[in-house]
Amino acid sequence: MEEIIKTLSGNPVQPIRMDLDSKFSFMCHKGLECFTQCCGKIDIFITPYDVVRIKNRLGITSGEFLANYVQLMELKKSKLPLYMLKMTKEGRCPFVTEEGCTIYPDRPVVCRYYPIGFGLLKSKEVGGGDFFFPIKEHYCKGYEEDREWTVREWREAQEINIFDFINKDWFDIVLSKKLLAPDFKPDQKSISLYLMCSYDIDNFRKFVFESRFLTLYDVDEETVESIKEDETELLKFAHKWLHGVLFGNPVIKLRSDRSS
Ligand code: SF4
Ligand code: SF4
Repeated sequence: MEEIIKTLSGNPVQPIRMDLDSKFSFMCHKGLECFTQCCGKIDIFITPYDVVRIKNRLGITSGEFLANYVQLMELKKSKLPLYMLKMTKEGRCPFVTEEGCTIYPDRPVVCRYYPIGFGLLKSKEVGGGDFFFPIKEHYCKGYEEDREWTVREWREAQEINIFDFINKDWFDIVLSKKLLAPDFKPDQKSISLYLMCSYDIDNFRKFVFESRFLTLYDVDEETVESIKEDETELLKFAHKWLHGVLFGNPVIKLRSDRSS
């Protein structure tokens, strides 16, 4: 868990725990001498909805995005790998230019949070809740600006809630205590399905609509229509199905004539 938190947040992390009402002064803008300095040599972990937003902005498939812009990271304490944005050989984000972020309206959730790091704990399992902390790079001049925010206001301004809503079931999976159980040992097929359901939405779409999936699983017509038309609904559906694949007790069940 600590390892995931470190990865989500980047460095250097300040040892200050913040909540939604904690205040900080900050403003980032092009006039600062540090502009875009933070867009390099940084761990940016990618969430499923980040992939959807960025690949659509770039006009490519999720498979093309994964092949060109990310690298897989194994975490010691987790049995499920995560994708991180791959920096260029100069150590810069592939989307930064002197003018700023070229995918700014669709930037990843980690970039939206910056200069706040966030930790995620499943409250009912480990007794905590979401928490936050400042990340202060020595060169960052944004902290010298007067504009004051609460973490809540910052999240709203950065449109983070929509990312949280769409990624929720996925976070429940990757932060699940069940991953720590000694008898949880996902095989290669489960890992491949996890990667597809998490990050490769265009392949998941093919998996659902161009295979026997809909003859095997009991999916009502309304759901079929919504996942056909709406990519974010398809993503949430993928995470619901993935939960059953990894942990059993599926929400999306096999048709009764197929389950025996
Ligand atoms: S270093 Fe800080 S102020 Fe400068 S561009 Fe990055 S976030 Fe903005
Ligand atoms: S995605 Fe945009 S905001 Fe995030 S590191 Fe890259 S250039 Fe900076």
